Amino acid sequence: MCVEQASGMVREAMVQKKKAPSLDKARLLKPAKIKEFLDGYVIGQDDAKKYLSVAVYNHYKRLLQPFENEGDDVEIEKSNIILVGETGTGKTLLARTIARMLHVPFAIVDATVLTEAGYVGEDVESILTRLLQAADYDVPSAERGIVFIDEIDKIARKSDNPSITRDVSGEGVQQAMLKLLEGTVVNVPPQGGRKHPEQKMIQVDTRNILFIAGGAFDGIERKIAQRLNSQVVGFNNSRDHALVDRSNLLQYISPRDLKAFGLIPELVGRLPVLTYLNPLDRATLRSILTDPKNAIIKQYIKLFKMDGVALSFEPEVLDFIVDKAIEFKLGARGLRSICEAIMTDVMFAPPAKKEFEVTLEFARAQFARTAPDRLQNAS
Ligand code: ADP
Repeated sequence: MCVEQASGMVREAMVQKKKAPSLDKARLLKPAKIKEFLDGYVIGQDDAKKYLSVAVYNHYKRLLQPFENEGDDVEIEKSNIILVGETGTGKTLLARTIARMLHVPFAIVDATVLTEAGYVGEDVESILTRLLQAADYDVPSAERGIVFIDEIDKIARKSDNPSITRDVSGEGVQQAMLKLLEGTVVNVPPQGGRKHPEQKMIQVDTRNILFIAGGAFDGIERKIAQRLNSQVVGFNNSRDHALVDRSNLLQYISPRDLKAFGLIPELVGRLPVLTYLNPLDRATLRSILTDPKNAIIKQYIKLFKMDGVALSFEPEVLDFIVDKAIEFKLGARGLRSICEAIMTDVMFAPPAKKEFEVTLEFARAQFARTAPDRLQNAS
């Protein structure tokens, strides 16, 4: 065997070792298949799913490329993602579902607890502590995991806000995040918290970690509208103006709007895939109750089945649950608490019969008895 061949094999072996064990080309789903998987768990949000599917596909293709470039200088860049949409519209669920599909460690962190080094709060490195914990401290596995950074909008620059005199949690945190998102080796405190000199650090390379950021960006529609107005005026094109769907401006979101909202350009640049989620309408809420693979209603049916009781719901009950979620402004998160209010008594003292139908009358009575105070306090 010639030397060249042998060195080729060695290189291949190294590449193999570098690859995470459960990732191989054959198992990597194409974007359309990824979306199909997401459809099983998340209702609607087609645009977000499409962007996410492509970004994830490209991200894992990037991971599969040999770490030494073969001849060409084309290096696939990271496709970190930012999801903009009201709270409770499925941002976390999308990120979690992607991680479930890929069988990679997944961590959720809240950007609001992060502060600049030296202030009270958590250092940015603590983001990776969560991921390490999710990976059972298996570093190579954590290094290809997914981190969902929630409430990224809360670390926007607040300098226009006169009530905040010192911007502890804004720009400094954004700055601190940059390297992490791009890819660097970070010293991570294994138990989180502040760095102590005596604590042994774990080195984590973030190059292949996929970061998905999410935020509600309350009021960003105004920035979008301003931009669209000035664009339309600028081009003097009344036809474009007419085509703008004013009822859902988020669909036009662009990186410029994130900057106008207070994210620094460097951070926006490191989250190159930008997409949005729609508010949940009545039909979507109704579908969330029954259609996802682990829909709430399916879960109750299964729970009752385990006790040998065939549970069913009058269709009007499902509409009633949706009505209450809307009335109390609870969104999709409220669907479960409303169901619990209706079902707890009957789960506490299961019916002796083999069948049980939840009627509208029953649901109304249970809800009136157990729910309103608790739900009102919760909202
Ligand atoms: P966000 O991260 O946008 O605040 P979540 O993803 O945490 O919202 O959603 C809260 C809960 O509401 C989820 O756990 C899920 O049960 C439900 N939910 C929200 N949006 C959807 C959706 N589009 N499809 C299915 N379930 C949803």
